[in-house]
Formats: sequence, C-alpha cells, structure tokens
Amino acid sequence: IAADPTAGQAVKAADRAHVFHSWSAQGLIDPLAVAGAEGSYFWDYDGRKYLDFSSQLVNTNIGHQHPKVVAAIQQQAATLCTFAPAFAIDVRSEAARLVAELTPGDLDKIFFTNGGAEANENAIRMARLHTGRQKVLSTYRSYHGATANAIALTGDPRRWPNETGTSGVVHFWGPYAYRSNFHADSEAQECERALAHLEQVIAFEGPQTVAAVILETVVGTAGILVPPAGYLAGVREICDRHGIVFILDEVMAGFGRTGEWFAADHWDVTPDLLTFAKGVNSGYVPLGGVAISERIAATFAERPYPGGLTYSGHPLACASAVATINAMREEQIVEHAREIGERVLGPGLRELAERHPVIGEVRGMGVFWALELVRDRDTREPLVPYNAAGPANQPMAELAAACKQRGLWPFVNMNRLHVVPPCTVSEAEAKEGLAILDEVLTIADAHTG
Ligand code: PLP
Repeated sequence: IAADPTAGQAVKAADRAHVFHSWSAQGLIDPLAVAGAEGSYFWDYDGRKYLDFSSQLVNTNIGHQHPKVVAAIQQQAATLCTFAPAFAIDVRSEAARLVAELTPGDLDKIFFTNGGAEANENAIRMARLHTGRQKVLSTYRSYHGATANAIALTGDPRRWPNETGTSGVVHFWGPYAYRSNFHADSEAQECERALAHLEQVIAFEGPQTVAAVILETVVGTAGILVPPAGYLAGVREICDRHGIVFILDEVMAGFGRTGEWFAADHWDVTPDLLTFAKGVNSGYVPLGGVAISERIAATFAERPYPGGLTYSGHPLACASAVATINAMREEQIVEHAREIGERVLGPGLRELAERHPVIGEVRGMGVFWALELVRDRDTREPLVPYNAAGPANQPMAELAAACKQRGLWPFVNMNRLHVVPPCTVSEAEAKEGLAILDEVLTIADAHTG
C-alpha cells in the first residue's frame, strides 16, 4: 500500500470543512481518511491497513470491491444508468425475481427502496392501510432506522431526541435471557414469559388498534440477541389470532449474516412483510426493500398504493443486487458464513471467554456475534452503564482505540463488542482478528473486580 499522507490531509481538510456527519457533534469528530479497500481489509493514506471486523455498518457481507459486483455496476452504467420506477426494466425485474425466490413463504412481491429505514417506513404504511389500524409495536432493544417512523420504532437512545408528536408506536420487551426482564432462569422460560408479556401489552393496547408487530429477527445493533426457540413462532401465532401484521426487519440479519439467506430461515417462520437492505448488494449502491405477502399485496390490487420513491428499483442498485446474489450463490458465501461461525468464530470467542473475565456472555451465529463485557461476571454489571458517554464510557473507548492501533476495525455499542466481519472472511483473517481481540481484552480485564 503506497502511503500518501499529504493527499490524506487534503481529504480530511475538505471533509472537516464541508461534510456534515451522521449522529455526531460536528466539532468533536476526527474521521479516518480512507484510501482504499479490498475483501476484508481497508487502508488509510498513511499506509495503515485495517481488518474490517465491522463490515462498515454491518453491510459489506460480500467484502469490499468484489470484482463481479464492481463489473456488473460498470456494465449497467454503460447500458442504462437510471430509469423511473413505473417502467419495466430487465435488471429490476431480475433483482425482484431473485429476492422473491430467496425470501421465505409467499413473500413474492418486492417494493424497492434506497435503504433500510425507507423499507420499514413502507412496511408500516402497508400494515396500517391493510388493517385500517394505527398502532405499531416494537421492542425497546431495537434499531429500525432514522426516518420519522423508523426512528420512532427504534428502541435505543437514538429515538429520544427524535420523539416529536404522536407516533402510534408502543414499545415492549423482547426476550434477552442474559438480562431477563422476566426473572426467567432458562431460555424456555424467557420465551414463554416474553410471549405472555407481548400478549398482555396487546390486550391492554386493544388488539383492534394494533396494525403491526415489528421485530428484528436477530436483534442487531442493540445486542445480537438471538431469539429463543419458539419465540418467533409464538409471535406469529399471536399476530394471526389478532389479525395483526407481523413484520420482520432483516436489514442487518438478512443476506447471509446469520449463516442463512434470512435469519427467519433458522426458525422456519414467515412474516407478512420482510424488510431488507445492507447485504442485498453489500451497500455498493444504496438499496433496500420490502418483500410482501400475497395477502397484503392483494390489498393493493385494485386500490393504489400511496407511496413511491424516484429511485425505487434504481438500475445500478438492482444490477449490483443481481450480481451480489449470483456471486453469493456461486461462491457459497452463505454456507461459508455459517461454517466459519460454527467452526472458527464461535469456538474462538468462547475460548476468549475462558481467559478473559471481562467477557460476560458470547452469543451469535454465522458472522454475527457479540461479546457482552462486564465488570463482574456474578452481578453482570455492564463494563459501562447503558448509554454512557464521556468519561463513563472510557473503558469501551479505550478498547476500540486499542483495536484500531493493532489494525483491527471494531464495532462497539454500549458495553458490547460486536464481531461482524464480512461473510467472506477467511479462516486466517478470522484468526488474525481473534488474536488481536485476545490482546485488547487483556486491557479491558483490568476493569473487572
Ligand atoms: N433496520 C435495522 C435492523 C438496521 O440495522 C438498520 C441500520 O443499521 C436499519 C433498519 C436502517 O437502515 P438504513 O440505515 O439503510 O436506513
């Protein structure tokens, strides 16, 4: 990698002068200037290389710069860059066909968006129009996006500064055995009590007022929470009994992340609406969407659907999705994600937990793992408090900095370190990352009692 610090400084200076960044106090950030990326790595202008254990925002499932996807975008750009959603376009038809083929059950109609938040916006619009009801139920431990309704659905603290007016959203607790809200002492009990809790929330809200329940199939940013066996089927049954639309948000969990095409495939559950983005084309061009069941699609057979986007089904985005899905099939990337999780990442992380008292729990599947860090394994006191900032968050900030110093780009959230490399991560890369984590966790161990 050729270093060019002067070019890096110019990129950084222009960024600081003109780019307004997401989620940040603009005067307090110091973004890394990135010179390039390939596969599981990216590098800066000083010649430093990073192993990307974040997959950026958990979206580069196929790795950086996959040649087949890059070529498909180039080819599509030379053919037809853009065309309005009302027309039938070959790559759009093919992308929809492939997504419909991969999604479970009768989710056979695809509404394309530019990302995950818009997918959730449209899913709840469909649910409200289909049922004629207003309320939507979502969990506290969730992230569903940053647009008006999607951020209202979100349970994490990013919702708080965005709560304006009435949203029609009601939050409830999903299952989380390690920190049970239900005083459960087994996964089975957690499942049973979480379902009883949801049933009670619906009863007290009035079932006839509830349009939809939306869940992340495996909760992502809020903790990589894998649902206990029976939970999703239980929610499906509750929704059916009350005529409530069941939406699964697979924006982060979908397209190979959990070692199946969709996380719902692990539990054989079919929602009424499934939202996707990120891994559908690894974010090479912005794309998301809603996969729609026959019954909900039928609602809009004679009645116009009152929603649309200039770039719905954008040809460049669709061409990159077609190439991504085909490459993932040809190269068995989903099978690889499952296998590397079962054989290397899962066992490797559990082995780290044997040596590092700061690890309270290891959980996940595929290339979707979290280390929950604690000050004390018995009390499970988190390494940093919920939503900690500044000095209170110091131990996690130190940990992230120590990873970066050693060439590992981490994904940290609250008191957790998420291990979310691309689905294509090799065994050697996975082991390289685990070895760096072993070193940095020794530093974090110093905070344990
Ligand atoms: N839903 C989930 C589960 C997500 O993880 C995200 C993004 O992280 C979103 C929705 C929002 O997607 P986007 O940022 O593409 O709008």
